[in-house]
Amino acid sequence: MTYAGNGIGITRGVAIGPAHILQRDQLEISPRTIEQDQVQAETERFRQAVNNARERLQGIRRKIPESTRSDIIEFIDTHLLMMNDAALVEVPIDLISRHSYAAEWALQLQRDALVQVFNTMDDPYLRTRRDDVEHVVNQIQKALLELDEEAEEELAGKVILAQDLTPADTILMRHQGIAAFITEFGGPMSHTAILARSLGIPAVVGVHSITRILRHGEQVVVDGEQGVVLADADPATLTHYARRMDSAEQRQIRLRSLIGQPATTREGTRIQLMANIELPEDIQATRELQADAVGLYRTEFLYMNREGTPDEEEHYQTYRQVVEGLDGIPITIRTLDLGADKQVDGCTASSCNPALGLRAIRLCLKEPKMFQPQIRAILRAAAHGPVRIMIPMLSNLQEIRRLKQIVTDTRAQLEAEGVAHDGDIPIGGMIEVPAAALAADAFSRELDFFSIGTNDLIQYTLAIDRVDDEVNYLYDPLHPSILRLIQMVIEAGRKAGIPVSMCGEMAGDPRYIPLLLGMGLREFSMQPGSLLLAKESLLQLDAGKLARQTRKLMKHLADPQHEEMLRKICHLH
Ligand code: PEP
Ligand code: MG
Repeated sequence: MTYAGNGIGITRGVAIGPAHILQRDQLEISPRTIEQDQVQAETERFRQAVNNARERLQGIRRKIPESTRSDIIEFIDTHLLMMNDAALVEVPIDLISRHSYAAEWALQLQRDALVQVFNTMDDPYLRTRRDDVEHVVNQIQKALLELDEEAEEELAGKVILAQDLTPADTILMRHQGIAAFITEFGGPMSHTAILARSLGIPAVVGVHSITRILRHGEQVVVDGEQGVVLADADPATLTHYARRMDSAEQRQIRLRSLIGQPATTREGTRIQLMANIELPEDIQATRELQADAVGLYRTEFLYMNREGTPDEEEHYQTYRQVVEGLDGIPITIRTLDLGADKQVDGCTASSCNPALGLRAIRLCLKEPKMFQPQIRAILRAAAHGPVRIMIPMLSNLQEIRRLKQIVTDTRAQLEAEGVAHDGDIPIGGMIEVPAAALAADAFSRELDFFSIGTNDLIQYTLAIDRVDDEVNYLYDPLHPSILRLIQMVIEAGRKAGIPVSMCGEMAGDPRYIPLLLGMGLREFSMQPGSLLLAKESLLQLDAGKLARQTRKLMKHLADPQHEEMLRKICHLH
């Protein structure tokens, strides 16, 4: 057996399967000419490569189930259309016949010309087109170089190895039935990681050089809990992991017996267990697991794997389907949180330091043309069920006031137009910037509820990029500064009489639930897959006793003994 590496495990599961190394690098194409009498054959070779690339893509398209979001399908359809486009097919053929260029070189020259044109344009939509051109050209080049054999392989059951993956890649590959993925970079709080957890894909991130250590087709064991990657496992190891997969299944069956039972602590405190959702399949899970509400609906995913931006009608139809699909379960829709690690094509975002730049509410207030359709759609969807609206990345009161003004104006507009809506919906804010936590008392006067976003709150407080695995060891939800900020927010909410929930990953981690409960948190929002585990742990806890322990802990945060107290509360060993 070979120990292949370890990184950060981001999903509880284990998977065993053959490695598939995802090649994303630009292919090296050198200038090359052919003999005049080969022009005909070269043209034919090029046409054949385009056909092969098209057939491969059509194969992927066919495997995507009907229920898949239309934007993912459109993304593939666009590329299929481009494979018929004269600019990518006829122009290279012309270059082959006029200059006797080899097909690869002719295609590369045309790619350079097109990319150069796009680069001179500022329009973000055209920038998306440039990426599409790159992608399609790459596919044809691979077909020409006959590298597409490996790409044609089925991804079903494979363990994907890549330098990094975007959230969009993750969604697409999930539909292709991958068993697990391993990346060289990325942190556990990145959106790709959050998505993998929510989709239940076992995954390990931050395994340096893994794409060079492992070979294509080699059998790999991925332990998403311990963050371990093994290759060529011996039979005893394979049996061990197969048993673990089995006992995880048994545990899941036991957990499912908790469905329908209210989440109540030992002494009878009722806790709200809510779901974080983003993809259509999460709605089904939320209903099945009988979550009390959806505490966070991330809407950025509407923007991925597509060209352009969704219009009001698309926003509306999507939200309406979600609200109706939830069948009376209340939902908190978060307004767009684009930027930072949720970059999508076709959207301006500052490049120097995206996490601190034009992101989330900042971007939305700057781009009303992009934002207003979403607000209109949310108010319209609210006519179909209980909806709340939530603002991400608030850092000052001005942002709240401007958002509220937009909501008021939008309501008036809809009223004047006679469009069905519910304008009277609660407006809450995410507390995920330290400034917002420190000013939570002031914010509480202007908002109807708070939701603590620990993923970002920890990133900003501890000054560590959540997607950078090099500083991941500093990511500490139990840092005294984080505990103080969380406590401040819960206190401010309690004093103002507004609900406080937590929707960062910390809320769904059974290790931290006793502490949060002791701090007075009563609403926990997490990916659906964590709901039953959280319930199991809540059923065994005593909120009164934990409150006493936690009060003492908070008083002693400056003393070294606080670590021992923390261990006791969180049962950390
Ligand atoms: C958070 O920051 O904790 C959060 C829930 O939002 P996101 O992970 O989408 O940034
Ligand atoms: Mg956040």
